[in-house]
Amino acid sequence: MNERVLTGDRITGKLHLGHYAGSLKKRIELQHQYECFVLLADVQALTTHYEKPEVVRDNLRHVAMDYLACGIDPERSTLFIQSMIPEIAELTVYFSMFVTVNSLRHNPTIKSEAAERGYNEMYYGFLGYPVSQAADIAICKSSLIPVGEDQLPHIEQTRKIIRRFHQLYAPVFPEPQALVSDIPRLTGLDGSAKMSKSLGNAILLDSTRDEVNDKIQRAKTDPARIQKHDPGHPDICTIYSYHQAFNPGQTNEIHAGCTEGKIGCKDCKLTIAGRINELLEPMRERRETVGRNPKRVDEILMAGTERARQTAKETMGEVREAMSIDY
Ligand code: SF4
Repeated sequence: MNERVLTGDRITGKLHLGHYAGSLKKRIELQHQYECFVLLADVQALTTHYEKPEVVRDNLRHVAMDYLACGIDPERSTLFIQSMIPEIAELTVYFSMFVTVNSLRHNPTIKSEAAERGYNEMYYGFLGYPVSQAADIAICKSSLIPVGEDQLPHIEQTRKIIRRFHQLYAPVFPEPQALVSDIPRLTGLDGSAKMSKSLGNAILLDSTRDEVNDKIQRAKTDPARIQKHDPGHPDICTIYSYHQAFNPGQTNEIHAGCTEGKIGCKDCKLTIAGRINELLEPMRERRETVGRNPKRVDEILMAGTERARQTAKETMGEVREAMSIDY
């Protein structure tokens, strides 16, 4: 069997540079080597947005456009909508029979997300998110999962679920491996540990040239640098972390120029804004081309969902047989 890759995003908002550095860049490379499935996770978006389903609906096509704009090729990658594959929900239920509530409560990503959102109590769907993610991965028989580092506990939980399934019934799934990007987490424009649209510290992939320039000029830098000749500390500077992510060829020069007080923050920012705009320019062109034919996006999503559903049905045939419920 060809190795399969599963990637995807919860459909809670447009994608930003953090998504690109953390996973999209890798996905674009992988689609040339593996059979790739790209999940638009609308059901998982509802774990936190169940009161605002319109946000999920509105963002579905935005995210699909982001994928196509950044170079996900629908001829190579299968884009599909999670809620339209009922077999994923079915497999989630079967997996949930042998996943303990304690193992979910102790999942570090669930713990930190619950704390970030101020949840005193966790809803069943939110707590069970890693089980649903295991079903996404397993149903496509994916063996490689490109993720940001915050998703590593979920992949580990998936591996445990799959091993347990095999112990209880029969081997059906490959045991997936996480592929962590070189830049697993991108700093926010305000210096926060993570770029996030909801924190308002992100550069969206559909930003115009002016929006990029403006946001970069307002980004946080080393506060010790008041005058150009003040020696700086690039390792605590947001802008330097962007040079590392998007301008790796110039990092030594920037590092030395900053620590020796030879370059000013304004010029340093202009350089990285230029690099980010170079990265986004082909995306803007592709977005414009795809945007001229919005029906094409729907066709791509429906065709991909149909293909993924076929795969899901085949896998569930094996699952039901392994569990002796193939009546
Ligand atoms: Fe940051 Fe560049 Fe200013 Fe140094 S010169 S503090 S790396 S923006």
